Amino acid sequence: MEKMNNLKDLLKHELQDLHSAEDQIIAALPAMIEKATNTSLKNSLREHLRVTEKQKNRVVQILELLGEENAGNGRKKKGIAGLFGGAQKCKGMAGIIDEGKKIMSEKMHPDVMDAAIIASAQKVEHYEICGYGTARSYAEELGLQKVAELLEQTLNEEYEADDKLTFLAESRINRQAEKGGRTKTGSESTRGT
Ligand code: FE
Ligand code: FE
Ligand code: ZN
Repeated sequence: MEKMNNLKDLLKHELQDLHSAEDQIIAALPAMIEKATNTSLKNSLREHLRVTEKQKNRVVQILELLGEENAGNGRKKKGIAGLFGGAQKCKGMAGIIDEGKKIMSEKMHPDVMDAAIIASAQKVEHYEICGYGTARSYAEELGLQKVAELLEQTLNEEYEADDKLTFLAESRINRQAEKGGRTKTGSESTRGT
């Protein structure tokens, strides 16, 4: 990336990071949905996949807004390719997703697996909450009202996803995992209640 001279450059950098993060989440969620057993968990993850696709597009929209603002001083780049020149990869999200894949490859009772999937998904959400929260603050600081609003929208969706996961974990899944941990393998009949 070019030299960053101001907060707006840093905001664009953060947005490219978030675009990569959303992209990686879209790629990772299907395997998590597949591995999950609890129906509510599966549905929440499916729902968040749909939301995540919209969030990725929203990041593009925001970068376009920022690109247009540059039009006046001759720094406007052409198209989305220009916005993602260098295709910056979010290594933070790559690490979180790698850990998720690693834990999901372990042999586990299905209820324990659900608890592990929730934990991985919450790490993803927390990373995003941090990134979007920061980006929104930059946008506010810069007086970019529309950009701040769009970022706030995504931020709220990430909070919602996180809250839903907490609710699922506390209401049933962790308790079932506790049971699963005490029973011997092959006790599938105790599940599904
Ligand atoms: Fe997201
Ligand atoms: Fe990152
Ligand atoms: Zn998310």
